[in-house]
Amino acid sequence: LSNRLNKALRDLSGKGRLTEKNMEDMLKEVRIALLEADVNYKIVKDFLVRVKEKSLGTDVLEAVDPSSMVVKIVHDEIVELLGTQEATLNYAEDGMTVIMMVGLQGTGKTTSIAKVANLVKKKHNRNPLLVAADIIRPAAIEQLQTLGKSIDVEVFTKGIETPATETVKQAMLYAKEKGYDTVFIDTAGRLHIDEELMNELKEIENLVHPNDILLTVDAMTGQDIVQVAKSFHEQLNVTGLVVTKFDGDSRGGGVLSVRSITQVPVKFVGQGEKIDDLELFYPDRMADRILGMGDIVTLVEQAQEKMDLEESERAAKRMMEGTFTMEDMLSQLEQVSKMGPIGGILKMLPGMNQYADMINDADAEKGLKKQKAIIQSMTLEEREDPSILNNRRKNRIAKGSGSTPQEVSKMVSQFEKMQKMMKQMGALSKGGKLPNLGG
Ligand code: GDP
Ligand code: MG
Repeated sequence: LSNRLNKALRDLSGKGRLTEKNMEDMLKEVRIALLEADVNYKIVKDFLVRVKEKSLGTDVLEAVDPSSMVVKIVHDEIVELLGTQEATLNYAEDGMTVIMMVGLQGTGKTTSIAKVANLVKKKHNRNPLLVAADIIRPAAIEQLQTLGKSIDVEVFTKGIETPATETVKQAMLYAKEKGYDTVFIDTAGRLHIDEELMNELKEIENLVHPNDILLTVDAMTGQDIVQVAKSFHEQLNVTGLVVTKFDGDSRGGGVLSVRSITQVPVKFVGQGEKIDDLELFYPDRMADRILGMGDIVTLVEQAQEKMDLEESERAAKRMMEGTFTMEDMLSQLEQVSKMGPIGGILKMLPGMNQYADMINDADAEKGLKKQKAIIQSMTLEEREDPSILNNRRKNRIAKGSGSTPQEVSKMVSQFEKMQKMMKQMGALSKGGKLPNLGG
């Protein structure tokens, strides 16, 4: 998926400006990317109409970097669809809050109940009770009990002989009596939606009028997720989505479809099987994932944390002035190694993740270390002016850095090439023109 989009981006970048024609090409790729991410085709269609309108309405045609501009518009539009408002649980103003978890079998209802109950207990200071209203399989009750024990929360059950609605009725009385303030109802699911399931759920809904009915949406399921969500939403007053299994390798486009068809906000995101693998919902990150652009947010955060910005700016200035030295290069290499494995960094950069797999991190790391060692073995005088490096000096540096004189020469000539190119770029940009990096 992302490869196509990346290719479209690559084709665009470097072409100083974006015409309506190549924007069409770009949007075609976005369309394929979204379809491949399992976003429903009708939603994709409407989506692209809006993106095109917005793109044409803004200064995108004159933008410095038109491809990023389009990606940003696409990205922002997805974020908007996903919902930018923070969604939390609808706690009752006073009295008991009831939260009912619904969804197909195996989508993660029981697991999510334990995760959310643990969160409200620890973070919201609530006193939760879990109710086992999935009486279809005996194992379901046991599973809830095990989870309850692990988070130290009581589980109410009447066994599989008592009808689910009856269990819920008794659970409510029990909760009141014991002073619980948040009741979670774990319900049964089927492999497919059927009337019997819906009727049972509706009965429970009518009985307790939950403050929240959360629908679990398995990020790994494809297109049929939309139909499922639609019928749950039509028959029950679903108030929130819990996206589960977002730790899998699916792009989660189905979530976008479900969100835009039901207009129900995502409240939680499950990222694994463990209790703590639960996150609040960050539309930015999900949008990145759906687009296949890598987690730019994370990259920026990491970069900001670890990179000394002033240092980089200073180096950039020296680059443009053509006074970039080996000393600057050394500090740049150090910045890069601070950011972690190269392959990991590339994966997070739009347009670069197709190279990530080609890079062997161990090799890249070794190369980086070697380059650093070579510069470190030079005297300050040599770092300022590598042209003074004769064979005797190169031999000394090679010995000091554990490399060969050839490697030293190669490094120096690479540096000189880079320096020359930077001088040219600096001169051009001063003249108000940027070099045409494209073909
Ligand atoms: P239910 O039938 O809807 O109650 O689903 P369960 O809660 O029993 O979960 C079904 C399976 O999915 C179990 O093996 C869970 O461990 C697993 N599961 C649930 N949520 C997640 C998640 O966010 N990530 C992963 N990887 N597995 C999950
Ligand atoms: Mg279950």
